[in-house]
Parts: sequence; structure tokens; C-alpha cells
Amino acid sequence: MAEKRTSHAYMLLAPEGPERDESARRLAAELVCTGPEPPCGQCRDCRKALAGMHPDVTVIAREAGTKGLRQDIVVGQIRAMTADAQLAPNEAARKVYIIDQADRMNQQAQNALLKALEDPPGHACFVLCAASADALLPTVRSRCVKTGGGVVRQERTGELSDLARGYLEAAASGDLAQTVLFCMNRGKLSREDTEAFAGQVRDAVCDILCGRLKDPGLGRETLMRLDGLMDRALDCLRHNVQPKQIFGLLAAETLRVDEI
Ligand SMILES: [Zn+2]
Repeated sequence: MAEKRTSHAYMLLAPEGPERDESARRLAAELVCTGPEPPCGQCRDCRKALAGMHPDVTVIAREAGTKGLRQDIVVGQIRAMTADAQLAPNEAARKVYIIDQADRMNQQAQNALLKALEDPPGHACFVLCAASADALLPTVRSRCVKTGGGVVRQERTGELSDLARGYLEAAASGDLAQTVLFCMNRGKLSREDTEAFAGQVRDAVCDILCGRLKDPGLGRETLMRLDGLMDRALDCLRHNVQPKQIFGLLAAETLRVDEI
């Protein structure tokens, strides 16, 4: 974001709770901030967004029914949101829509959202908050830049493991042999370590895309591909594919021969 590259859709993956709410507000502040280093926390837009009272930041959540909250976020809510998104922002340069419990959108609601994600108004940003991406349509998932709850907090960036850093450096070097060797040497890692590794790489890729971490020389196209690749790796792990195969996939797909 520091480089003015923003996505129009983010998926904030974190357990439900006040921390996730805070992360969502912080991300919204980052999107509407007018300070030099978003989110500056000082400008009018940041302060309003962090306080949850910015007129261009809207939260969509389950509505009250006759017996407490409705089970799902329904299509009418998403349609109202996309209609509102067509209108120009009031104060900020963007309009941000935080969809809380996005994993509670029913199929119809998700399809309506998908249309908005496919052809979003230039000023609209959508932030989908969910505990897991599993309940979301793959077509919705693939249009969002993923971020973990903690990623939005600045301190998270310091936690990048040596393994994830080594992988990104190997990829940034553009050296196919080095990258393949790096991956093939990791085939004996445990499932947990492999999962942690892929999650960290994905978070780091998101941080780099948002300008929170320095790009070691990967470039936007490679970063977008690595984001998708880590998604696939995590998905494979969930379907009991062995770490050895995961690293085989990474060895084959991290670098494209035509990009070297
Ligand atoms: Zn600000």
C-alpha cells in the first residue's frame, strides 16, 4: 500500500473476536488513510476508521431475526452493499466494506458478492473476515488477497522464519537450481512445520504486496503466483498430501522457466 498498490478485496483469516475486529478496523484505516505511512493513526480518516465511525467504512454482519441473529448473511444484504458501493465516497478516497463472518454468507450471497469482486467500482474495497476460507467459494477466495489477523499488526513482520525467508530469497534470486535444491532438501519436514512454512510465506507475500515488507526482488507477478501456490500447498496438506510432495510441487512451480 505504501507503493499505492492496493487490492480491492482482502480476506482477513483469523478466529472471531475483538482482535479480528481490531485488525479489520486497522486494515480499513490503512485503506482510507491520508497520511504518509498508512495507517498513520493520526489523520482524520485513520482516527475515524479506528474508532469504527468513518462514513466510508461499512460493516456488514448477520442481521437480527425473530429469534436472535439470523443464521446467514443473506443475498439482500450483499445486494444493498454493492448498490451502495456504486456511489462515490463521502470523505475518503475509498469506500471500505468489512464483511464480518464472511464464512456465514450463504451461496446466493456469495454469488452476488462474486459479481462485485469481478467488476468492482474503482473506489470500493471489500474486507472479508472469516475464521477459515473453507466455507467460501473458490472463485471468491481466489479474488481476495489473504491476510492473517496478526499480519495487519506491524510486529508480525518480524516473525518471518528462516525457512520462509530462505525460500523467498531463493525465489527472488531467480536461480532455478538453487530454488529446486532448497525445496528438495525440505521434503523431510513434518506436516506441522510444512503448514507453518506455507502460511508464513503466504503472509509474507501479502505483506510485501501491501508494502509492509520490503520486496527482496520478486516482483508483483511472481508474488501473486506464490500467493496462489501457497494456497494450493495448504489445500493439499489439508487433503493429506505428504510434505515431500508439497515441496516437489514448490520445486516445480516456484520459478517459471520463461521468467528466468
Ligand atoms: Zn492516517
